[in-house]
Amino acid sequence: MSVSPDQDIFSELELAYKPDNIYFQIITALLQAAELLNLPRQLKLILAQPKNELMVHFPVRMDDGTTRLFKGYRIQHNNVLGPYKGGIRYHQDIGLDHVKALAAIMTAKNALVRLPFGGAKGAVKVDPRRMSSDELMRLTRRFTSAMGNNIGPDYDIPAPDVGTNAQIMAWVADTFMNLHEPNRRIEGLRVVTGKPIEFGGSHGRDKATGQGLVYVLEEMLPEMGFDISRVTFSLVGYGNVGSWTGRLLTQRGAKMKAVMDHTGAVRDDRGLDAAMLHAHVMKTGGVAGFSGGEKMDTQSFYSTPVDLFIPAALEQMITPENAAWLQCKVVVEAANAPTTPLAEDYLLKKGIAVLPAILCNAGGVTVSYFEWKQNRQAEQWDADFVDQQLQKQMVAAAHRVKAMARKFTCDMRTASYCAALEYIGQVYSLRGIFP
Ligand code: NAD
Repeated sequence: MSVSPDQDIFSELELAYKPDNIYFQIITALLQAAELLNLPRQLKLILAQPKNELMVHFPVRMDDGTTRLFKGYRIQHNNVLGPYKGGIRYHQDIGLDHVKALAAIMTAKNALVRLPFGGAKGAVKVDPRRMSSDELMRLTRRFTSAMGNNIGPDYDIPAPDVGTNAQIMAWVADTFMNLHEPNRRIEGLRVVTGKPIEFGGSHGRDKATGQGLVYVLEEMLPEMGFDISRVTFSLVGYGNVGSWTGRLLTQRGAKMKAVMDHTGAVRDDRGLDAAMLHAHVMKTGGVAGFSGGEKMDTQSFYSTPVDLFIPAALEQMITPENAAWLQCKVVVEAANAPTTPLAEDYLLKKGIAVLPAILCNAGGVTVSYFEWKQNRQAEQWDADFVDQQLQKQMVAAAHRVKAMARKFTCDMRTASYCAALEYIGQVYSLRGIFP
């Protein structure tokens, strides 16, 4: 994948290309795949901009009696395959282009796994760690009411992402249900996925992203010369995705040598205990101070020799600077867009493979789809059945990516976007452009 932009499409849309902007980075990668597939120009134009961009400002009463005004977003990138679907993030460093980029990634991810969903993403610019539980509840309810009928069980279905969790999803569902007529209230339950099991959630949703990543690795690693039960790895981020990835990979026998999060980094060359580290993070809020490992600085963390380097925190964390420190054989993207295009270029030239996010972390939205389906059918699947179905979907997606990589002799990111866009292209050509 090259890093040069499709200036022709951007200038027609009057968009001033900025190489460091994550939205342009993601759209450039999508457009390059579209070019390789020879997709029609109108499809490139459609995919280069989201269908709808909602921005809301809403007041929330704080515990001390003051009122603060918050900014929220819901970006609906594309719905040719079905209702919009994508998480809601609570984070202080979020802006419009960032949410647009994440929504476009969701369109590609859902298409790659062949889920009947389009792509969307939402966010509130807030640091949830500085809010009490009551403040978070009022913020969530007010944001849900501000989004109004722009979300809905067959129209746009949010889910958890960074800074949000099952409790927050329960507040979204309860608010939506209360805002609708009593005879349609139960439909409102499936306006959101990632809910607690007692309130319409699915078994296996909590671990789904990590579990899906393990299924992808089981499929991809043997051909790359690795045995999953013997690999070593390091992880950035030990939240939902990172900690489940750590726990599930070590259960398969892999060795977790180092972990870094926003509080610091810890190491143990003999292998960190993933479950104990998770318990420590639950208690203290971060990996710093973990007694089962040794503290380390950022550069030493990135330079730790491992087979797999797994970013599971935020976007754009692997830059050309720290990519030069990496001593790994494969970068496994558990987070969305963690590798900048320049860093990826550098890694590929150095012979380090990059397994892209839309394949590796698609397990989360896949089990979200199962949850939505269970809600529609008023059923609850057992945990083993969820795992079996998830494995089937992830293995099929991995096969699609491998087939595209062979067809175009290209890197895995290009191959995964091609596998997604080929399907979207087929549906557009069947449906045509209305009217
Ligand atoms: P989370 O909020 O549970 O965890 C985020 C982690 O990132 C935390 O461990 C935090 O300490 C770490 N982090 C934040 N800033 C950091 C920094 N500057 N340096 C190092 N670490 C830092 O979020 P999550 O749900 O685990 O999501 C992680 C990534 O995975 C995001 O890119 C998200 O979009 C993606 N993702 C999540 C899901 C899901 O189901 N939760 C599904 C698909 C993709």
